[in-house]
Amino acid sequence: MKTNKIKIIIILLLIFSSFSYAQQKPFMDYVLSWDGESSTVGVELTYSATQKDSTVFTFGDPDFGGQHDIFYTVKNIRVVKPEVLRIDEANRGITIYHNGAKEHRISYDIDGSLPIDKPTRTTQTELFRPVIAKGILMLVHLQFTMKITDKSNPLVSFRWRKYPENFTYFNSVQPSQKRPSVKLEDYYDKISQKVYFVMGDTFDVKEYDVMGIPYYSVTTKRDKYGNDLQGSLSPFFENYFPSIHRFWNDTDFPFYFLAVTALQNNQEEIGAGGFGMKNGFVMKLGTKFDTWEKLVTAHETAHTWVGLKIMLGKGSFDHQWFGEGFNDYTTIINLANSKIYGEKEFLHYLNNDNFKQHYESKIKGEHNDSIAAKYWTDYSNYGRLPYRRGLIYAFYLDNQIRLASNGKFTLRNMLLDLYALRQTKKNDEILTVDDFIDVGSTYLDKQELSEQIKRYMIAGQPIDFNNIKLIPEFKIEINNNIPKVNLAERADLLKIYEW
Ligand SMILES: [Zn+2]
Repeated sequence: MKTNKIKIIIILLLIFSSFSYAQQKPFMDYVLSWDGESSTVGVELTYSATQKDSTVFTFGDPDFGGQHDIFYTVKNIRVVKPEVLRIDEANRGITIYHNGAKEHRISYDIDGSLPIDKPTRTTQTELFRPVIAKGILMLVHLQFTMKITDKSNPLVSFRWRKYPENFTYFNSVQPSQKRPSVKLEDYYDKISQKVYFVMGDTFDVKEYDVMGIPYYSVTTKRDKYGNDLQGSLSPFFENYFPSIHRFWNDTDFPFYFLAVTALQNNQEEIGAGGFGMKNGFVMKLGTKFDTWEKLVTAHETAHTWVGLKIMLGKGSFDHQWFGEGFNDYTTIINLANSKIYGEKEFLHYLNNDNFKQHYESKIKGEHNDSIAAKYWTDYSNYGRLPYRRGLIYAFYLDNQIRLASNGKFTLRNMLLDLYALRQTKKNDEILTVDDFIDVGSTYLDKQELSEQIKRYMIAGQPIDFNNIKLIPEFKIEINNNIPKVNLAERADLLKIYEW
């Protein structure tokens, strides 16, 4: 009788456990630890296994800043018996064989050390790698989390177990949350592109209200260039962000953050670099925050729309002439609209940084398809090519639309239509070049527009400004085959770019 009872309980337990196994919602819980001094962060990941036998994770993404050796920042990977590990360095893969284990946990350290003998020579190095040193921690999810390899969409959470109490803390998942020990969570699909942690005693975080949206300004307090970064950024919160929200008629935002911090391991003065995230942008600075840095800040924050909310093609490399070039055009016209750039800075950027550089470039005629392959290895040529090519075309297209509509419409109207079209599509649907042409055909001849895209953006033929008409406010002169734009007498940039 007694044995039967035990048997029944065991059977019940078995049924219950397999039932709960099937019912278990996928999850990934990260617990992080840092002492505020060392260059490593301890990561403990507890997760549900969607496959009974093994789980495969990958770590890092070489497309994120071309960091091909990113796997070496993960150290001391360990699991609990009976689980065993197999590591595939070449493919950045980590396989965990469960061997019947019911709970699954993997622990590892992220090494964010900044070796003095390997100083930062390009911003990419520090920008796209974990930075962890005494009093300073900056981490993006791609630098410390595991990528899933199945289609499950786990609920992902982060919390800090160990951290210095008196440090400034900022997280980009839920920035209003100021305590590191409080769990942050969201579904995997949503949380991708969203996690940035800043912790340290050299940071300053300021909050703004921009048209009802909370905005956060995250900066280092001091650096060797004498920057007052909070002061330099305030015109963005006061003028530029309101301008670009009006440009897109869009205030549908939970929050936004700007994180501008000084590089920590450069010996020489090097420029600035940055990347956009879903609700913010991250910039690293190895110089004074000046005209160029304003452009980078404006460009990166503008990516919220062109590049993130509105993208042509499957990946960000497909049509960078749009994702980067058209974004850059919306950037400079919003800098003009918000008076951060005056006529001089606007024309200088258009002419010296774009027309001149592009028309002098040996590779200006390269096909669009050749960009992705050489983007990170020859960034100074190939990396900038789509920005300039796209910006010049956006400027030309804006002029065409204004001329064809007698000033009634501008490129902004076409971009707003494209944004509206994006919103009618499902998340997994993409905007195509054909969509771009369809939307543009409201304003210009469809055949002509289609030919222009093929010729100038895809095949890469430079636009011949000898045979092009611009609005009367702009004059163009061509010297040694390099076009240069000037403002006509009495033309007012603030009137041209008004919304
Ligand atoms: Zn960009």
